[in-house]
Amino acid sequence: MAQILALSGQLQMNITITLTNAIPKSANMWSSVFFKKNDKGSAKTCAKFRVFALKYDNSTINRLEKLLNLDITPYTDKIIAEYIWIGGSGIDLRSKSRTISRPVEHPSELPKWNYDGSSTGQAPGEDSEVFLYPQAVFKDPFRGGNNILVICDAYTPAGEPIPTNKRYRAAEIFSNPKVFAEVPWYGIEQEYTLLQPNVKWPLGWPVGAYPGPQGPYYCGVGADKSFGRDISDAHYKACLYAGINISGTNGEVLPGQWEFQVGPSVGIAAGDHIWCARYILERITEQAGVVLTLDPKPIEGDWNGAGCHTNFSTKSMREDGGFEVIKKAILNLSLRHKDHISAYGEGNERRLTGKHETASIGTFSWGVANRGCSIRVGRETEKQGKGYLEDRRPASNMDPYIVTSLLAESTLLWEPSPEAEAVAAQKLALNV
Ligand code: ADP
Ligand code: MN
Ligand code: MN
Ligand code: MN
Repeated sequence: MAQILALSGQLQMNITITLTNAIPKSANMWSSVFFKKNDKGSAKTCAKFRVFALKYDNSTINRLEKLLNLDITPYTDKIIAEYIWIGGSGIDLRSKSRTISRPVEHPSELPKWNYDGSSTGQAPGEDSEVFLYPQAVFKDPFRGGNNILVICDAYTPAGEPIPTNKRYRAAEIFSNPKVFAEVPWYGIEQEYTLLQPNVKWPLGWPVGAYPGPQGPYYCGVGADKSFGRDISDAHYKACLYAGINISGTNGEVLPGQWEFQVGPSVGIAAGDHIWCARYILERITEQAGVVLTLDPKPIEGDWNGAGCHTNFSTKSMREDGGFEVIKKAILNLSLRHKDHISAYGEGNERRLTGKHETASIGTFSWGVANRGCSIRVGRETEKQGKGYLEDRRPASNMDPYIVTSLLAESTLLWEPSPEAEAVAAQKLALNV
């Protein structure tokens, strides 16, 4: 709970309490205590507790925790479903809860619902109802039990997808027989930056000043190199519990920045899983009193931005001879560079400068093992002659429904003219 982080000395209270003969009754109520054993190694008769408390006094935390952890399953079949949707900015997440009469496993078992779209910038006040259609179900790591998180998309009362419903179009592309047959896999590397509340300056940075230059922080350990590990770790476990296909995490180059990876996931599931993982991250940072930002360049200057590299492969790319298919895909992507850039996140021009492991926004490039390219192919893929490509252009605030479906569309459904293809092949040294 509130004890996850001891951000600074100011927020941390050290209380030493001596209890006599009181351990059995109260031990399970003190969630964050350290027993100081007496000389005989026994904590039964006398113990000193060092208690870390943020915001509340401990009796309040204990009483709230007891209620939050209540197991309701012996008393009712009912569960709580948290309906989650994307708000009017296209990047903000919203959610509200409702009671469902019994445990469910599939979104089709859940009712549609609605919300006030005029409060999220998604409908006019005089006709404000927007409808939520349940699309994916995850276990709720916050409420536990049979309670669930439900990823929804949004429709008008007439059943039309609203403009911010990017899932609808993506699902159409993924159900195209040509795309479906190629079983597109996505591995998405979501980078994010943690900020101190109020000052909105990265976690671990001195307020109004800068830390030492980048270098020691990437995958770093130690109090002067790693800031926010508890959040990253809590998120990792919560995602695994929820059923999200999370594949790893790491500390990033910019201090206070982290990454988690989701995948490989097939088709529309990649977007559902990333959105749910983002939701869980917002909830965890909310609990910790830390602000999450997906801004692609949170700090101007000689500091890395935040991206959302999207690793992509099709069945043909993963089979023998796949490198040729990958090259053809890169060729198509080069010819649609502008369309992709315009769909890869707001403010990405501040990040794609050609520095800090990025390729500049105006030029398309590809290379094997080159992190300064738009598209990177791994050494292993080159060696095996099959595998996947990494699109390094998407910003951390991209919409995974748009990026994943656009990659499928540009490489599996779209065809350039033979003339354009010949010119591009020569320019990029892609002889396919
Ligand atoms: P990087 O070396 O760029 O930091 P990461 O290890 O962070 O790469 O992420 C690579 C991602 O690519 C992982 O999520 C992984 O599951 C995914 N991936 C692996 N193989 C494939 C594949 N064939 N197709 C699509 N994604 C893949
Ligand atoms: Mn990575
Ligand atoms: Mn990274
Ligand atoms: Mn990467």
